[in-house]
Amino acid sequence: MEYRRMGKTGLQLSALSLGSWVTFGKQVDDKISDELMGIAYDNGINFFDNAEVYSRSESEKMMGRILKKKNWNRSSYLVSSKVFFGWHGPENKPNEKGLSRKHIVEACHEALERFQLSYLDLYYCHRPDKNTPMEEIVRTMNTLIQQGKILYWGTSEWSGAEIVEAHLIARQLGLEPPAMEQPQYNLFERYKMEVDYYTIFRNLGMGTTIWSPLASGLLSGKYNNGIPADSRMGLEGFSWLRDKTLNEDRIERVKKLSVLAQELETTPACLSIAWCLKNPNVTSAILGASKPQQLNDNFKSLELLPKLTVDVMEQIETIMQTKPAHPEY
Ligand code: NDP
Repeated sequence: MEYRRMGKTGLQLSALSLGSWVTFGKQVDDKISDELMGIAYDNGINFFDNAEVYSRSESEKMMGRILKKKNWNRSSYLVSSKVFFGWHGPENKPNEKGLSRKHIVEACHEALERFQLSYLDLYYCHRPDKNTPMEEIVRTMNTLIQQGKILYWGTSEWSGAEIVEAHLIARQLGLEPPAMEQPQYNLFERYKMEVDYYTIFRNLGMGTTIWSPLASGLLSGKYNNGIPADSRMGLEGFSWLRDKTLNEDRIERVKKLSVLAQELETTPACLSIAWCLKNPNVTSAILGASKPQQLNDNFKSLELLPKLTVDVMEQIETIMQTKPAHPEY
């Protein structure tokens, strides 16, 4: 496993990490998630990602049970949660979501209870909240750090401008700025990582734990010939994701990418994950897996990394045609 320094912090994250969205508490039971976390840990993954909203809090409880059972040294792994969406779904009361001091503090306490842990390593604001002043958010996260309940705070899917605002307020008030972002990043979604955060990486030095490196599985090539029954896009209640993710044009590109992967004696999944890791601004790519075999296969992306030469990267660009336009700096 390769370990990368998270932005300007002293924290080392495994280049690959494991998340629980859709899977824990929905697709997989305790037995499979225990197996997945075991495979991850044994292969050097040190970061497990979670959120209050995943499976309406069942995902945190499941991960907590497994961590307790595994009894690994607390110093050997990092665990995260994210606050914003609440966990009651449509029944959320007004203060049971968002980034007010009340919800951030209560969600943190609840996450600690569900995980059966005394602190979270990473704690994210899962989305920006236009209804809470930035100073309230920064002060609250700083307080949780001071109290030892979280070690680093970060953002997820915030705009570059919002991240800069948080940094400026933190600097002005002598508080902890956000240390990491969690954006989507894959061969189809590149704007934030490659354009919006460009100056942030250069001037503020944030780490990133990127999500959906396979665009929810699309880049594994599993949808090249239809939707397998046991896949994420085949799940009941996920038509919104299917509509957003799958279309003919995208599938055609993945088919071409699959041919290139075959020429390189790898899989489209490994090629797509390795492509994410090639970006030096990626601290960790969070993998998802509903089956142990997927995780075992995807680890091979690390071996592929040195084979992503300039020529191979150009071939990928030619196939995908997704490079975002850069403004002139
Ligand atoms: P991916 O894009 O890598 O999708 C993972 C899914 O793809 C798996 O669950 C599996 O789904 C399928 N898959 C993975 N490997 C293979 C393979 N080799 N062959 C075939 N199918 C494969 O990542 P996720 O979308 O799961 O995101 C990863 C993590 O990122 C999440 O768990 C979560 O922690 C985080 N996240 C954060 C968000 C945020 O807003 N901050 C939003 C979304 C995710 P299946 O078998 O069911 O088809």
